[in-house]
Amino acid sequence: MNHFELKGGELTCEDVPLAGIAEAVGTPVYVYSSATLERHYAVLRDALVGEGLGEPLIAYAVKANSNVAVLRTLARLGAGADVVSEGEMRRALAAGVPPERIVFSGVGKTRAEIAFALQAHVAEINVESEPELRLVDAVARELGQRADIAIRVNPDVEAGGHAKISTGKAENKFGVSLAEAERLYATAAGMAGVRPVGVACHIGSQIADLAPMEAAFRKLRALVERLRGEGLAVERLDLGGGLGVPYFNQPAPPSPDAYAAMIARVMAGLDGVQFAFEPGRMIAANAGVLVARVLHVNARPEGRRFLVLDAAMNDLLRPAMYDAWHDIRPVKPRPGAPVAYDVVGPICETGDTFTRDRALPALEPGDLVAFMTAGAYGAAMSSEYNSRPLAPEVLVKGADFAVVRPRPSYDDMLAREQGAPWL
Ligand code: PLP
Repeated sequence: MNHFELKGGELTCEDVPLAGIAEAVGTPVYVYSSATLERHYAVLRDALVGEGLGEPLIAYAVKANSNVAVLRTLARLGAGADVVSEGEMRRALAAGVPPERIVFSGVGKTRAEIAFALQAHVAEINVESEPELRLVDAVARELGQRADIAIRVNPDVEAGGHAKISTGKAENKFGVSLAEAERLYATAAGMAGVRPVGVACHIGSQIADLAPMEAAFRKLRALVERLRGEGLAVERLDLGGGLGVPYFNQPAPPSPDAYAAMIARVMAGLDGVQFAFEPGRMIAANAGVLVARVLHVNARPEGRRFLVLDAAMNDLLRPAMYDAWHDIRPVKPRPGAPVAYDVVGPICETGDTFTRDRALPALEPGDLVAFMTAGAYGAAMSSEYNSRPLAPEVLVKGADFAVVRPRPSYDDMLAREQGAPWL
């Protein structure tokens, strides 16, 4: 459920008409609903707690939507953060996420990033390879610390809504095999700079079926039991993120209740572990929309009808990158028969096409449309390609809204660059 609804014939976010935001802030603009963010966090937490999984660490995956106001909204509910760079760590800390609720993931952490994480005293570093384990050990010893680490396992299962977001197959770059995890865990236990506290996995994103998750979690549980059988302590089990969200044209993903029930079934009788989760998309996706304005309706004599928007692939990359499907709704729908449009942006690439032959209510230049389910991997993946300023971000709460990232001016953009001595 989300809080974008038609009220009085126009699309609103909570109690704020999107047209009013577009008027005040300009387009394209990302708009987020606090109520939806809060609801998604609560639904997941309640489902997990309701299944008797203890008080889980819900480390929101910052990569999905890294706006500090979004992070702060979640931190106030008790969310932790799953981060994959020093930048994301700094964002989480700036938003008030306590370091003891921050998990540092990612296949390529630098020495400086590891040092930063240790100095910030994050909860755990998820180690993805033996060279990384040795680096974390070395950096921690230099700092006179012992780092809590988890070993990220690659359980070799196929999952995820697109090959580019599948992360749990043996050929993917993430984590180590189960056998390797067992060996590394024992190695880590003998190191002075690290303390292995758990195992982790994250098998992919936009997962619409519980079966691959269940298969992965069973393998992880068996690993925990083998490690304990060797006398090694395992306190935390990080089950990653990945739960899919409805993008309207796809089969409904499993509910948080079904997800939690599956985990309770798989983990029944496994005592003494805190469960950790790294949800991104299921928290943020349906909490945000991208609002754009129609620039032109270009009806070709031979038939195709292009709806040219002021938003482009630099603002919302998912359709170009993953062939992703976003519901597109007029902000003030007109009556009348639907018309088939190719919805495109102004960027000089054919890939700057949001959708082809999409039947939409008739639209005219100046009309506003909203890309639904754009709160995750939307603004976070945006760029200034074609020197287009980043779309601003707006957070709504009830009848109020605030610009939580303003649109940079052209002067701001140019000021970030400098000449070379010979120019
Ligand atoms: N954790 C890790 C390590 C990830 O790489 C990702 C996304 O790629 C996530 C969590 C979040 O995944 P999702 O947004 O599908 O929940």
